Amino acid sequence: MLESKAIDVERLRADFPILSRKVRGKRLVYLDNAATTQRPQVVIDSLVRFYSNYNSNVHRSVHTLGEEATAAYEGSRKKTAAFVGARPQDLVFVRGTTEATNLVSFAWGDKNMKKGDVIVVTTMEHHSNIVPWQMLAKRSGAILKYVGLNPDGTLDLGSFEALLREAPRLVAFTHCSNVLGTINDAAKLCAMAKEAGATTLVDGAQAVPHMPVDVGAIDSDFYAFSGHKMLGPTGIGALVARRGLLEEMDPFQTGGEMIREVFDDHSTWNDIPYKFEAGTVNIADGIALGAAVDYLESIGMERVRAHEVSLLDYAMNELTAIRGIRLYGPMDTRLRAGVISFNYADVHPHDLATILDEEGVAIRSGHHCAQPLMRWLDVPAASRASFYVYNSHDDVDALKLAIEKAGRIFKV
Ligand code: PLP
Repeated sequence: MLESKAIDVERLRADFPILSRKVRGKRLVYLDNAATTQRPQVVIDSLVRFYSNYNSNVHRSVHTLGEEATAAYEGSRKKTAAFVGARPQDLVFVRGTTEATNLVSFAWGDKNMKKGDVIVVTTMEHHSNIVPWQMLAKRSGAILKYVGLNPDGTLDLGSFEALLREAPRLVAFTHCSNVLGTINDAAKLCAMAKEAGATTLVDGAQAVPHMPVDVGAIDSDFYAFSGHKMLGPTGIGALVARRGLLEEMDPFQTGGEMIREVFDDHSTWNDIPYKFEAGTVNIADGIALGAAVDYLESIGMERVRAHEVSLLDYAMNELTAIRGIRLYGPMDTRLRAGVISFNYADVHPHDLATILDEEGVAIRSGHHCAQPLMRWLDVPAASRASFYVYNSHDDVDALKLAIEKAGRIFKV
């Protein structure tokens, strides 16, 4: 397929068995991709193939099954690393973004953070990029500070610069907000933070699945993402670290596989990245993540992004035409990913999501694991529709019709 050609959604949908099921007698319109995406048959097949053909532990056994499993798992590490422009030895397989931030909080944070140090996050973070730093601050005596936002939901650079003047030890921010859709200029923010002497962590959970990402160009110290948000299985994700940084860090979890030698009173550590993958790893899901990467690469990430911008343009136009809708985040679709959070008159987001479900339309409602952001928006909850490669303009039409139906029920 040519990189410039638009995605043939109808053809691509046939790769996703779940999309042919009905929900409450209606066609499934799946618009909860920021929570988790669906899996193409090739990813499901990869899991079945592993368990039915070469299920074995990795890095241990010299038998055929063990060697095949190890080759597939390490092959997936190579693909996943290359997908984001990293070296395989700088990529640790983790359960997901949450485990990655926790890993850094303990393995880097406990060694480097001390009383009075400043940790900077932003008001648009997911809880998984807030709570690990709150806990690190508690353990170390460091102080957690938040970068403010502009009224349109973009990052307030003035506020960022002011906090950088306090010489923070760590700056952790999201590449792309799971609520506002805001895409932050990760390379620019990392350069500014580095200039101020800070170590940087970028939460790429909502970026890697939706746009080309090159961690080398971003030049962060840490970059984290989750497999299940990019067509891969749950329970697998990645932490990419700057060259050499993993060597300087203490281990996160300890036990089998992460050691080189164990003596009665002390141990030495395995090479990176194995030093950070204690115990039996998530082999099947790690291998299947490689299948998801292959699938996305066969589409091309430029096309994935172009497809989502086209859906966003259409959806924002259609939704703003509904009286009583308030959309959050930047209105310029070049600045946002395929996420639209909104409130509809005084209809509670849970009620709206329930009515939409009756129409087969799956959206998320709630605080989206971003309560500080909800407070900033001054709402207890919001509805969120989020797109991916298999969504079409028809899905947007179905969303609009279902919202209008809710409007009639609630007499908006
Ligand atoms: N960061 C962002 C921006 C997210 O949207 C999410 C999940 O919704 C996470 C982090 C946490 O990802 P996971 O639950 O896969 O660890």
